Formats: sequence, structure tokens, C-alpha cells
Amino acid sequence: MAKILLLPGDGIGPEVLAAARIVLDRIAACAGLAFRYEEALIGGAAIERHGVPLPDATLTAARAADAVLLGAVGGPQWNDLPGPRRPEAGLLALRAGLGLYANLRPIRVRTSTVAATPLRPEIARGTDMLFVRELTGGLYFGAKRRDAEAAEDVCCYTRDEIARVVRRAAALARARRGKLTLIDKANVLETSRLWRAVTGEIIGADYADLDFEILLVDAAAMYLMTRPRDFDVIVTENLFGDILTDEASVLAGSIGLIGSASLGDGRRGLYEPVHGSAPDIAGQGIANPLGMIESVAMMLELGFDRPEEAALVREAVDAVLAQGVRSHDLGGDATTMAIATVVADRLSEIRESRHDADRIAH
Ligand code: NAD
Repeated sequence: MAKILLLPGDGIGPEVLAAARIVLDRIAACAGLAFRYEEALIGGAAIERHGVPLPDATLTAARAADAVLLGAVGGPQWNDLPGPRRPEAGLLALRAGLGLYANLRPIRVRTSTVAATPLRPEIARGTDMLFVRELTGGLYFGAKRRDAEAAEDVCCYTRDEIARVVRRAAALARARRGKLTLIDKANVLETSRLWRAVTGEIIGADYADLDFEILLVDAAAMYLMTRPRDFDVIVTENLFGDILTDEASVLAGSIGLIGSASLGDGRRGLYEPVHGSAPDIAGQGIANPLGMIESVAMMLELGFDRPEEAALVREAVDAVLAQGVRSHDLGGDATTMAIATVVADRLSEIRESRHDADRIAH
């Protein structure tokens, strides 16, 4: 039986994870899947109980699981802690400890929510891009130093760190529309020049069939807002990917809609929404759970090889949005749990109607 580790975390993390469980339990019941759940602490919740953001027991449980589902970490009450003891450090240590170097973040603009983007609909409509963000290297993991007068964060990438994530992105591009964009800052940064050289070699040798382009990160930030439909798969380093995916989430209408998968060389992945712990709305039951639910769909597809069930979850989410159900970030008043329940009911209905159609056909 597949083992899933649940890490609710802080703020709205526990709320959206509880909502996603409703959908996961329903799909498991519909498809005859059996999951065993375990729960552990991370982030501020772990700091309160154990004094550290990633207790050893949590990392051990994650390594023993087939997949990890995480809500979000962080909050203002822990902002004054030194860097390595902050909640966010727990998440970085978890990603590194599991060797999850590729972070997949799909940004898809649905017709039903295109009006929620602050961009003109004719610019955002039809956007369907997949970011592949490098997740365990670069500035976030380099040496750090600070005194009263100066501070330093070292950005370092090795050839192997670049190659493995570029290969993953190139393979994904080939399975989609065949376009790959590398985003870097090679006019200034040595690390970017290495990214460009290694990526060029890989594309030339093994992926010459792809439509490959390179953009500087400053220009790319602009093109994401002016011609987002031109992007298919984007590969980029940790820092650029962190910032650009939040920017791109605006296209979809809300950051609360975007899910992610963090993958390494093995089968085990970490699935989490891209948003943070949203302390401004935590505890009110109004967070949008759809990014977390999309993360469940990604887990079914990439972690458990169940593309049909993943497609069913996405179809149900699309249907619920199309019928006008909206959380507060999208201008509505549906609660977190109400949305999850409607999605779960909708997916049961879709599945039932398919069964009926099959029965009639036979
Ligand atoms: P955030 O993503 O938590 O919130 C940004 C804005 O988006 C807020 O107005 C929030 O209310 C809204 N929002 C986010 N998710 C939403 C949802 N599901 N439904 C409705 N509205 C939603 O970013 P922030 O405010 O900059 O950060 C808050 C905390 O989260 C910080 O401590 C930060 O370090 C942490 N953080 C954690 C992660 C993570 O756990 N992966 C990611 C980013 C930020």
C-alpha cells in the first residue's frame, strides 16, 4: 500500500492540506486505490514543538514514504530567528535531504478564470507553460556570511547540477509542444554562462529536435507578461525560478491555483502548492485549496503513475471553476472546505457518468 507523508506546516498549510485530503480520499475510493497516511511536523510548527524546523523524525519519515504532501511553512512570529532556524530552512533542508532537484510548476490559464488576471484577457488566454526550477543549488544553498557591515550569499552551480535538471526539462518539453526556454543572466553572471554552455551541449547532442531559445531573466520577466502564450517549458536556476513563478502565477488569476512537484532521480516526490502560509488569511477557512489539489493531481500522475486519476481531478477542478465556484482570492465567498467538497462530488459524478456510458456501450 502506498505511503503518503502529510506535512501540514503553518498558516493556511493545514487548511489546504485537509481540503486536499477530501479530494484524495474520494479519488482513492473511486479508483480503488489504497493509501496509508502518516503526519509529521515541519516549519514553525516543528520549531514550537522541537526547536528545529526539520526534526530528524520528519526527514526519516519522508525518506520512508512513497510521496510527501506539504501545505506551507512560515509566519511572522518566526521572522526574527536566525536564517538556519527559520521555518523556510526546514523546507530547504527537506528538499535537499530528499535530493529533489527539479521543481515542476505548471501555469495554465483557464477560460473560466481568465477574467481574474489583472492582464488583458486576450494576452493571458490560452497560456499553458511549465516551469522547471532548479531546486537544490544556487544562492539558496551557497555559503552565507554576515556581519554588521557586510553580507554574502555565494551562488555556485556544478555541471552535473545543471545537466540533470536541463535533461529533465528537455524530456518534458519533448512530451509537450517541443519548445524549451532557458532563462539566465549570462551577460553578468559566471554561473549563468556555465548554465548556457551545459544546456547548449545537451540540446545539441540529444535534443536537437526541440525549438530551443535563451532569454535573459530581465527580458523574460517582461515577456511573461506581454507574450505568455509563447512559452512551453522553461528551465531556470533556483532564484530566478522562485521569483518568475510567482510572477507567472498572476496569469492564472491567483497564486492559490498553482501546484508543484519536486522530483529527484528516484520515484519519491514532494508535492506542494507554490503559495506560502498566507498569515493574513490563516485560520479563517477561506484559503483557495485548488493549488494544493493540483499538487495531489501531480502526485497521482508523477508519483503513482495514475494519469487517468490525475486527469479526473483536473477535470473536476475545471468544471467547478467553470460553474462559478470561487474562493475569496478569485472574488468569491466559497470556503476552503466547501470547494474541496464540490470538487470531490464533481469527480464522483464525472466518473459515474463515464461508467454509465461504458455500460451502455457494452
Ligand atoms: P504567500 O504566498 O503566503 O501570500 C501572498 C499573498 O497571496 C497573500 O495575500 C495571501 O493571502 C495570498 N494567498 C497565498 N495563498 C493563497 C491561497 N491558497 N488562497 C488565497 N490567497 C492566498 O506569500 P507571503 O505572504 O510572502 O509569505 C508568507 C509566509 O510564507 C512567509 O513566512 C514566507 O516565507 C512563507 N512562504 C512559504 C512558502 C512555502 O511553504 N513553500 C512559499 C512562499 C512563502
